[in-house]
Amino acid sequence: MRSKEGVWKWILSRAIVVARDEDNRPLRMTGTVTDISDERQSQEVIWLHANFDALTGLPNRRLFRDRLAHEVLQTRRIGAKLGVLFIDLDHFKEANDLLGHDAGDHLLALAAKRILSCVRESDTVARLGGDEFTAILTQLGEAFDAEKIALEINEAMVKPFVLGEEVIYLSASIGITIYPTDGIEPEALIRNADQAMYVAKNSGRNRFNYFTPAMQQEAQDRLRLIADLRNALADNELEVYYQPVVDLRTGRVVKAEALLRWNHPRLGFLMPADFIPVAEESGLITEIGDWVFQQAAGCAQQWRSRMGDSFQVSVNRSPVQFMSNANAGNWPLLLEGIGLPGSGMQVEITEAVLLNASNRVIDQLQQYHDAGMQVAIDDFGTGNSSLAYLKKFDIDYLKINQAFIHDMQRTEDDCAIVRSVTAMAHELGLKVIAEGIESNEQKELLIAAGCDFGQGFHFFRPMPTAQFAQLFFANGPGGAIDSRHV
Ligand code: C2E
Ligand code: MG
Ligand code: MG
Repeated sequence: MRSKEGVWKWILSRAIVVARDEDNRPLRMTGTVTDISDERQSQEVIWLHANFDALTGLPNRRLFRDRLAHEVLQTRRIGAKLGVLFIDLDHFKEANDLLGHDAGDHLLALAAKRILSCVRESDTVARLGGDEFTAILTQLGEAFDAEKIALEINEAMVKPFVLGEEVIYLSASIGITIYPTDGIEPEALIRNADQAMYVAKNSGRNRFNYFTPAMQQEAQDRLRLIADLRNALADNELEVYYQPVVDLRTGRVVKAEALLRWNHPRLGFLMPADFIPVAEESGLITEIGDWVFQQAAGCAQQWRSRMGDSFQVSVNRSPVQFMSNANAGNWPLLLEGIGLPGSGMQVEITEAVLLNASNRVIDQLQQYHDAGMQVAIDDFGTGNSSLAYLKKFDIDYLKINQAFIHDMQRTEDDCAIVRSVTAMAHELGLKVIAEGIESNEQKELLIAAGCDFGQGFHFFRPMPTAQFAQLFFANGPGGAIDSRHV
């Protein structure tokens, strides 16, 4: 009820009927109306006290258990994955003794804020007491997503805490457990995460640890690979291979695709599938991709003088490379530095880039266009294709994914898809490149379908630059070679 002063009040109304008409319908009531606002407020305070930690404002142990039980049920119902993190601050006790308890409390509140900033809004962060926190991570796509958040918390915690005159350094030891892989019951998950956290502490702190040894091993391998990749460029371990692309009508080599390889000192010769994903996750892809582009542009410049000015080298660009700021990842700018006309280069992007094209993507595509570079859609037909973008953006080529080429001899369906995609592309003014041609039959079918260009083991495998030069210019400059003579 709203009071005269405009303040909302909680009231309790109780009444009984004291008079009725001849049909026994109530006529009058008498009773009391009591203002219970104070009572309500103290109940709320009690509830807050019972469920929240006064120092950080986070849910406490009790509410954490409630929420975990609730989220486990929810997760079971939708068949998703859930992660539980146990987070223990390293060296907090020392800091607390050094600073005194007031400052220690302040430090805990700051640490809580940092943890909170690493999780998503739908996640729960709770304080169990002391310097112990937990996080419930809901609706994980894969277990590995929990690790990304743990890593972020690790990184957030090692940044210095400034308290007045003092600068304090902390870190966190984190245990990770995953529902349903590691346990089904909330109690089991809590135990697992706690145990995993102790392993993290005993292995030297400032790290996370999975409850499952196999997951821990995978995480360690991934982290090590990222560390190795950081040095791979400086240590000259990366190498660009080139796969020739053939004009299907003339049989001549008219393009080449740059494909990255890693000569890893311990793991041997690695293919992109082994390391591009970690390069993307760690953000190293921008620096590495710029290097690949530079190598490829250098080759294009050299090879055009032998194979003719229409010769072109294409470079793959993953969605992450569209995110970088400033001049990193700016290929038209790199091209200017080299002095190569844009027409010498092609950029291969995936459908995913166009599907949720931000202004950043649109601007960059425009820059390529202005620089005279061409753009191809790679692995066409494998993503959530939306044909609308073909009209919306300036695209020059479609590269039909090898999955469709692979079964062309056997299934008429794939033939029909390739024929129609080609017809549609031509209708829209795009050229078509078929990927993964492995046999002469496939090549013939593609020619019959009207495909423009082809690339695959049937013609050439990706090769180092020296081999490329040997193959194509060994007999002196003579223009593009006919693939049928190789
Ligand atoms: P992609 O761009 O679709 O490259 C074509 C892949 O098909 C290459 O694999 C190539 O070796 C392979 N291939 C070519 N012809 C045949 C064939 O006849 N049969 C079969 N089975 N395969 C064939 P690769 O070199 O392992 O590269 C895999 C993917 O890694 C590439 O797919 C590309 O998406 C990515 N990638 C490679 N280099 C780079 C790079 O420098 N930057 C970025 N962002 N991604 C790269
Ligand atoms: Mg490609
Ligand atoms: Mg492809």
